[in-house]
Amino acid sequence: MSAHPNLPSYLNPADLGPWATFLEQVDRVLPHLGRLSVWADTLRRPKRALIVDVPIHMDDGTVRHFEGYRVQHNVSRGPGKGGVRYHPGVTLSEVMALAGWMTVKNAALNLPYGGAKGGIRVDPKQLSMSELERITRRYTSEIGIIIGPERDIPAPDVNTNERIMAWMMDTYSMNVGSTSTGVVTGKPLSLGGSLGRRDATGRGCFVVTREAMQRMGMEMKGARVAIQGFGNVGNAAARVFHDNGARIVAIQDAAGSIYRPDGIDPQALTAFLARRPGATLLDYPGVERISNDQFWEVDCEVMLPAALENQITAENAGRIRAKLVVEGANGPTTPQAEDILLARGTIILPDVLANAGGVTVSYFEWVQNASSFFWTEADINARLDRALSEAFRAIWDLAQERKLPLRTAAFVIACTRVLEARELRGLYP
Ligand code: GLU
Repeated sequence: MSAHPNLPSYLNPADLGPWATFLEQVDRVLPHLGRLSVWADTLRRPKRALIVDVPIHMDDGTVRHFEGYRVQHNVSRGPGKGGVRYHPGVTLSEVMALAGWMTVKNAALNLPYGGAKGGIRVDPKQLSMSELERITRRYTSEIGIIIGPERDIPAPDVNTNERIMAWMMDTYSMNVGSTSTGVVTGKPLSLGGSLGRRDATGRGCFVVTREAMQRMGMEMKGARVAIQGFGNVGNAAARVFHDNGARIVAIQDAAGSIYRPDGIDPQALTAFLARRPGATLLDYPGVERISNDQFWEVDCEVMLPAALENQITAENAGRIRAKLVVEGANGPTTPQAEDILLARGTIILPDVLANAGGVTVSYFEWVQNASSFFWTEADINARLDRALSEAFRAIWDLAQERKLPLRTAAFVIACTRVLEARELRGLYP
């Protein structure tokens, strides 16, 4: 018997992964939803989950089959929306959780979307460029039966990027017989992409941190920031924090962890890595190497996990010294770790707010595609700043008023919107 009521039979109760975290977060919000809590199972059951076989010709002439997924967790407020992840650890339950967080994130920002996510269980670093193109095109064709600019709009996530979005857009367009730029976001600029999209998630992490620091009476200038992950999110966040006077004192990625109390210049580090193919963080001169364990103990004001799920656990949460944990990744903190952090007075800016900058500018991209009218970067960044600051204020104020953790407050606002839409639409037939 599973500890979770209403668990769909297609999930293995012993291996729920991040879906267990999502279910726990849903349980924590239900007492605050009033009569809408009767619709709780809407959140506990994804609307639609598509599993596809993705066979491709490898360069050596063999054929290999990969597992692909696209989950539409909810579409009550609009089309599905969320990224596609390429990672060897991708599972159905992980994609379900990521799709669920997109539902909450999109509603927290009041974007006119439901929530969706996709993934392929593959290590893209083991693929050649042409294998990567073939797997992307076959996967896109397979999920083509449920995506579209008015149905479900994919975007980049872990290990996917603008080039992959270009192939997805082209494949979908070829299949429907006309160019459809609005079917994916995070595209290259020359294919209907938006200015500001690439850095939007990292920029958003900065905006919500700035707002929290203002309320907490903390100074951005000289603030020490530790970042886990130096991919799309961590890299952009490091640059924006650095440009605004904060000090990036520690960075961890798959290669290991580095530390420099005076601050690491993220632009210089990025240039160093670009110049030397094969080099890692650990080759960067002038920094101290620390263990991945020591990374969590670094003396800092802001801890920014921007990698994968389940990184802050009951095991390391007690050692985090930061006042603020800013979730650039989706689901980086387990519910047990969250309890430990909250008990110590640490403020957690939850993923559904902290990393919502990416999907917010994805929304701007989709609107620009629909109107074929493109905005300036300054305009996009200003709108992003406003959208996140306003969402932050609503969540912060509700948390203060009802004495709730910020995550629960964000879920209250978002789930109220989702379940109100659910109730008003009614059940068909
Ligand atoms: N993958 C990003 C996220 O988790 C962006 C999704 C999007 O732009 O649709 O929020």
